[in-house]
Amino acid sequence: MAEFTLELNDDQQQVRDWLHGFAEDVIRPAAAEWDEREETPWPIIQEAAKVGIYSLDFYAQQFFDPTGLGIPMTMEELFWGDAGIALSIVGTGLAAVGVLANGTEEQIGTWIPQMYGDPDDVKVAAFCSSEPDAGSDVAAMRTRAVYDRANDEWVLNGTKTWATNGGIANVHVVVAVVDPELGSKGHASFIVPPNTPGLSQGQKFKKHGIRASHTAEVVLDDVRVPGHCLLGGKEKLDERLARAREKAAKAGKDGERLKNAAMATFEASRPAVGAMAVGTARAAYEVALDYAKTRHQFGRPIIDNQGVAFQLADMRTQIDAARLLVWRASWMATTGKPFTSAEGSMSKLYASEVAKKVTAQAVQILGGNGFTREYPVERMHRDAAIYTIFEGTSEIQRLVIARTLSGMPIR
Ligand SMILES: Cc1cc2nc3c(=O)[nH]c(=O)nc-3n(C[C@H](O)[C@H](O)[C@H](O)COP(=O)(O)OP(=O)(O)OC[C@H]3O[C@@H](n4cnc5c(N)ncnc54)[C@H](O)[C@@H]3O)c2cc1C
Repeated sequence: MAEFTLELNDDQQQVRDWLHGFAEDVIRPAAAEWDEREETPWPIIQEAAKVGIYSLDFYAQQFFDPTGLGIPMTMEELFWGDAGIALSIVGTGLAAVGVLANGTEEQIGTWIPQMYGDPDDVKVAAFCSSEPDAGSDVAAMRTRAVYDRANDEWVLNGTKTWATNGGIANVHVVVAVVDPELGSKGHASFIVPPNTPGLSQGQKFKKHGIRASHTAEVVLDDVRVPGHCLLGGKEKLDERLARAREKAAKAGKDGERLKNAAMATFEASRPAVGAMAVGTARAAYEVALDYAKTRHQFGRPIIDNQGVAFQLADMRTQIDAARLLVWRASWMATTGKPFTSAEGSMSKLYASEVAKKVTAQAVQILGGNGFTREYPVERMHRDAAIYTIFEGTSEIQRLVIARTLSGMPIR
């Protein structure tokens, strides 16, 4: 049994310093340019691939870190560099986790390498779950997957939205309805291989923040994928559907839908999003602290005023508290502790709200300069707004926490 410690071990410190160096030397200097261009920063992803940061091996290593801190540490450092570029680097991981969680060993071995490509020809992947009428309410999803037994193919039809890397991905992971009677229990995930006819990019969104990360609709028009593209395989799906039908018959359809609505976001990925938020918050806090020590008004540094100094004290306290919640949840996930109080959701809720607040305070501390694109806190504040929205909004996190604590079907 390991002793309690909050210190990173030597290996972790080395990895953290290496990531920080990449974030400082490669990501941060490119941040303003790619934010303005609103395009995927392919050269930076390629650079990350060359040094080994954009690779399945690296993420697998961090994912299987027995302390649970590998992924949050990685996210914090990369997002400290810049949120938009960092999401372009780690976005593929969302799709990869979808395959790791539900796929067979063969599917993992076949598709994940194709998601990343290789350093001379980097690729990205997309995870497509959200739809125009199914955001928080995952059970309202309408994209259909129908099995064509004669050809052993699945036929996908529908429109996905908000997909990170949607349309530019080499491999798309698409969640679709296989049994509309079962709400989110009737969903399954499919691989759409590269260049499959019928999949196209719809609208690309022009966003408020994380503008270097590509977000778009994905249209599926009679997309035919081979039977082996159903993640987990048909036998497992049939068993799962049979169990769900039995349960639904017992519980009544309404009860089942209520339970599933908005709840099917991904518990394990929430602390990782919290860690991204900690990275952005820390970046803005550091800029604000430096500025407050060097900017003079009334003949003294502005940090000489308690009104400014106390804000910085609160900012740092909240960032550290957010990191501790993220680390706790990550440690619980890795060591198999049950999330009896929705600790994963707590960490994401708190860290994302802290990032929004801290980046706003940083803008205020920089005064007029904070409001311009000459200083990075303006961008960080725009970027921070995403954390309370994706992977389940703050309201949905509160709903999950309140339902978990109370055992009541709170709406
Ligand atoms: C930049 C970006 C990238 C994204 N990347 C991906 C991706 O890669 N793949 C993917 O599948 N999705 C992705 N998403 C989608 C994201 O997860 C959804 O936007 C999110 O789940 C919210 O859904 P919605 O936008 O439809 O909002 P809605 O669900 O319509 O919510 C609107 C408002 O109503 C509130 N609300 C809804 N229901 C309740 C309730 N029961 N109680 C209280 N309040 C409620 C919400 O909290 C929110 O404030 C991305 C989104 C963005 C903006």
